[in-house]
Amino acid sequence: MSSPITTEALLARNKAYVPSHQPIPTLGKLGPIDGFPHILVVTCCDPRCIPENFLGLTTLDAITIRNAGGNVEMALANIVALDTLVDFREIMVVKHTDCGSQMYTVEGVRGVLNERAPGKKAEIEKMELGSIAGKTLEQGLREQVGAVKASGLVKEELKSNIRAFVYDIASGGLTEVAV
Ligand SMILES: [Zn+2]
Repeated sequence: MSSPITTEALLARNKAYVPSHQPIPTLGKLGPIDGFPHILVVTCCDPRCIPENFLGLTTLDAITIRNAGGNVEMALANIVALDTLVDFREIMVVKHTDCGSQMYTVEGVRGVLNERAPGKKAEIEKMELGSIAGKTLEQGLREQVGAVKASGLVKEELKSNIRAFVYDIASGGLTEVAV
């Protein structure tokens, strides 16, 4: 049986990696517009959902944001901030089958937090938890992409270039969802 992955184990892996590392150009050398990718991939942080694998990504191919559920609405602040540097032209939002964001509930997480931190109710109520419990992946995609499209903070030309997909962890394939 393999030993569990800990921070120390990952630090050892990094030591082993360094000799083969190829230096990566700095932003100043690349030029913010010409050298950087203009495509953003938003997907889930689940360790079974690795966009570098299923999209064949290597260094400088795409910018990726991973959070619980591959929630583009929760990534909004990151998107608008990064867009001032890299000028996004396309966004791929990818949820995956068997996602944990369908399994935990807002009420359940709030219950845990209210017990842990009594007196923080207002802060807890405000937290965006990204649960899509009781919904399909397609519903989650439509709602979250819809919220981004309804935001006045995102460039109009970018809003029309947001496409949504479900990644099937069994087959490895992507199925597009109309949003
Ligand atoms: Zn997930």
